[in-house]
Amino acid sequence: MTLLFTHEACLSHDVGPTHPERPARLEALNLALAVAAFDRLDRREAPKATIEQIARMHPRAHVERMLAAVPESGLVRLDGDTAMSPGSGEAALRAAGAVCAAVDTVIVGEASNAFCAGRPPGHHAEAETPMGFCLFNSVAIAAAHARAVHGLKRVAVMDFDVHHGNGTQAMFWDEPDLMYASTHQMPLYPGTGSRDERGAHGTIINAPLRSGADGEAFRAQMTEIILPALDDFAPELLIISAGFDAHVDDPLAGLCFIEEDYAWVTRELVALADRHAGGRVVSSLEGGYNLDALAASAAAHVRVLMDASAGVMELP
Ligand SMILES: [Zn+2]
Repeated sequence: MTLLFTHEACLSHDVGPTHPERPARLEALNLALAVAAFDRLDRREAPKATIEQIARMHPRAHVERMLAAVPESGLVRLDGDTAMSPGSGEAALRAAGAVCAAVDTVIVGEASNAFCAGRPPGHHAEAETPMGFCLFNSVAIAAAHARAVHGLKRVAVMDFDVHHGNGTQAMFWDEPDLMYASTHQMPLYPGTGSRDERGAHGTIINAPLRSGADGEAFRAQMTEIILPALDDFAPELLIISAGFDAHVDDPLAGLCFIEEDYAWVTRELVALADRHAGGRVVSSLEGGYNLDALAASAAAHVRVLMDASAGVMELP
């Protein structure tokens, strides 16, 4: 069984019609997942993350300040490209809550994997700094949740968004039992993610790609660097920062992935989770700004998760 966590409140984070991170992204994804091929998805409403959950990665006072700053009308600008609208507080809570709830369900064995279709994205959000369209760092919050509530020791986040997840990296930097692995275009926003950024315990694995790199280069970085590192780390839960803006048609960056590359990496990550984590994979939407490419790529990703969970269920 594959779970799909989402919530219509995630459509209400709306920072303007010209902003690339817009509600239409989630609408396009919802449409792509509404066809018969996805009937087997177990669809759940994303709950709101609690302050306690978020406060494992962001200082409580910061969380409360952010939520208090959500405007009743208009926009509140947080940086050059990050803002909050009246719906942003609930959207961000549901986006983080989706990933925590998905962790709960895969750890108790209700499903082997889950996809969280929430927004705003999260991987740029640092402990006290919202940035890069991100308010709270949903995947980092979910990793902390898995350890605090379910007693897992080692949790890994794999991030194939075209941008480096500086927020997740910063939050995991001093943690020997949290791995952050990323492929991303470099140089590109936010500027972090060079190969020599390894964390205090060597659990940060960056495999940057040059503008113009295609799926072949991506697969080589995965096969030669990231998958071996993840195998050595042997996570008990694999969380994916699933951004689809490395697609060749994406307007924000210059990598040249196609849908099949996302299917390929998902198969590899599912196989890795089978080896170490009982197949437990929780994937969370990050970027992806060409609506058609986002919808098709995310659909290819979810399709592999569904095939994998069906395969798991057929085992004796
Ligand atoms: Zn991105």
